[in-house]
Amino acid sequence: MNTLEKLKAIKSGRLTARQNIINSLKEIDARNKDINAILHINQQAIAQADEVDKKIKKGRAGKLAGLAIAVKSIISVKGMIVNCASRTLENYTAGFDADVIARVRAEDGIIIGMANMDEFAMGASGESSAFGKTDNPRAPGHIPGGSSSGPVAAVAACFCDLALGSDTGGSIRNPASHCGVIGIKPSYGRVSRYGLVDMAMSLDTIGPVANDTVGAALLLEVIAGHSIRDAVTFKKPVPRYSQAIKKPVSRLRVGLSPDFEKLCTDKRIYRLIQGRVSEFSEKTGSRIVNVSLKNVDLAVQTYYPIVYVEVFSSTRKFDGRKYGKKIEDVCGEEVLRRILGGKEISRAEYHGTYYRKALAARRLIAQALDTAFKSCDVIMLPTTPMLPHRFGTRISTEAMYAYDAYTIPASLAGICAGVVPAGCIDSIPVGLQIFVPAFSEDLLCRVMAACFELYQDEVRHDENDS
Ligand code: GLN
Repeated sequence: MNTLEKLKAIKSGRLTARQNIINSLKEIDARNKDINAILHINQQAIAQADEVDKKIKKGRAGKLAGLAIAVKSIISVKGMIVNCASRTLENYTAGFDADVIARVRAEDGIIIGMANMDEFAMGASGESSAFGKTDNPRAPGHIPGGSSSGPVAAVAACFCDLALGSDTGGSIRNPASHCGVIGIKPSYGRVSRYGLVDMAMSLDTIGPVANDTVGAALLLEVIAGHSIRDAVTFKKPVPRYSQAIKKPVSRLRVGLSPDFEKLCTDKRIYRLIQGRVSEFSEKTGSRIVNVSLKNVDLAVQTYYPIVYVEVFSSTRKFDGRKYGKKIEDVCGEEVLRRILGGKEISRAEYHGTYYRKALAARRLIAQALDTAFKSCDVIMLPTTPMLPHRFGTRISTEAMYAYDAYTIPASLAGICAGVVPAGCIDSIPVGLQIFVPAFSEDLLCRVMAACFELYQDEVRHDENDS
């Protein structure tokens, strides 16, 4: 059942919200011990579903009526433990709802529980959680990707209908690719960050994860929009993305870039993506154009100095006085690396050596994308340059950082990007990534919907073969 069919079933009373939530809880109960996607269950979920069922009877239920939604443990949900998968905040209970949560509740979505992640969203594999790694439901024994490992695995394992993750440099898109689901990183400023625990605040975004495009589009339209609590949100109207996807796309200029091709460590991934792009172009009467993207090869090196400095700044509040424990005393090695690195870079900054240079490079990458969008409407590329590794494989910090070589450029430029399952290699899902200009989420959703429709059968076929 896709998200729309499920919603119809709930709104017509064929499936009560209560039963939908009970089904989710049963799945979690049966399989979460193996997958470890969910850290905490919302004990009020069934009672909240009963309230939604009453509203449905009165014909007053919202757009997400009775759907089960998992939330990355870095987004504040009143009354729930929001520990960012860190010992630092092990018992921290949020005292308020993030803007996105208030909006989900206003549309009668049910928070099913808090989802696992890399500690403080720093990582690309889901392995750095203080509460154990998450398995990949579609490729067991492999990393699910990160840092939104839990929300994505929860959707892939059908523990919930939809999920909310955060994406700073690829954290929604990278796991969506590895787990064969849909993920969207909205434009910076499209969705309020109020209530999201900061990782690197000039890059952090909150976005939807789903098993189909309509689900992702629907959740996006609910959470998007201006908020008086987040000064960087824009006052642009929010289109109804879930309706917009019904309008087919045609005759687009689809950008492919040799500069991205060079970054692909596993050439099979690039070939698969190129094949999918050709199919899309043929079906929609679109034209493939080659675009040059200078400096995208420097995206990872540009991103980290900025992230380190912002992480150092954003973690100063975890000094053991107001919230939880002192972060340096209990955090894992990746978080510590960034805190110490950020401290050092900020100090070295007297010479303008790293941070200011990184900001200059960030502008160049943003400009390159801006220029590319003069000759194309969308850019298509892989999501990660390699397949997810097996648990137990030791990989270097550089290799871990390289997982995001394809996702970081969109983050640095603040544009929006989405991932659609495109097939499997070695029985492991591979996602096609789409970039569009900032605030073109409606176009993104339409292109994603067309790709999803086009690839779905083959993706299923690939998965069944595995
Ligand atoms: N893997 C990247 C990092 O560790 C991205 C993380 C994210 O998007 N939150 O910074």
